[in-house]
Amino acid sequence: MKKYSKILALVLAICLLLALSACGAKKSGGDLSTTTAGKLTMATNAFFEPYEFYDGDKIVGIDAEIAAAIADKLGLELVIEDMEFDSIIVAINNGSVDMGMAGMTVTPERLLEVNFSSTYATGVQVIIVPEDSAITGPDDLTGKKIGVQLGTTGDIYTSGDYGDENVERYPKGSEAVMALLNGSVDCVVIDNEPAKSFVAANDGLKILDTEYLAEDYAIAISKTNEPLLEAINTALNELIADGSVQAIIDKYIKAE
Ligand code: GLN
Repeated sequence: MKKYSKILALVLAICLLLALSACGAKKSGGDLSTTTAGKLTMATNAFFEPYEFYDGDKIVGIDAEIAAAIADKLGLELVIEDMEFDSIIVAINNGSVDMGMAGMTVTPERLLEVNFSSTYATGVQVIIVPEDSAITGPDDLTGKKIGVQLGTTGDIYTSGDYGDENVERYPKGSEAVMALLNGSVDCVVIDNEPAKSFVAANDGLKILDTEYLAEDYAIAISKTNEPLLEAINTALNELIADGSVQAIIDKYIKAE
């Protein structure tokens, strides 16, 4: 009899432990996060208007608002960390942030390093030149000095198409545009929406009508956090289906 009660006590203890751990796993959305429970930490590069930019000391824009809507659905508090674009995937993979959202294009190379959510927007790589430039399209870029933002698809694709040695890389897109203004490069290849802001803010520049490449933007998440990918996709897909994502995009990008 004594023997049985010991076994019973053991079985009860195991049941209790299992119940507790199941309870812990379900407690809140906070457990989805690889960083601090209850928070969803997003890495971005906040010089990419209208997707992310500073309004005073606050980071706003399409990505910031979509991220806030996702965090809201998951019951998490959104925290945004600003860093160089080139550091975002590193931060995701060393676990210091939960996700990257930065007008980030889904590419085969990046898919080897991170998971991507559903696509929530499209971008186009365009070419900015001085108003009097003889460059009229991608075919004229051979042998020219091309300014890009380090580690972006503008960098990756022009390096492949026109040669590494012809590409000048800058930590920020705005620095590439400065280099164009002072004549250090002949053109800048960058995403169309920030390109519009840069051209509007600086005299003497134009965007060529002939586009370079079309791309899909998505949220990057660590390959080691599948539950977070699933949770983000469920929330994002709902926000796409009910028109919330389009409403956020339309708020920042006016139809031409
Ligand atoms: N869409 C480009 C990329 O993913 C640029 C993104 C950015 O500069 N924030 O590389």
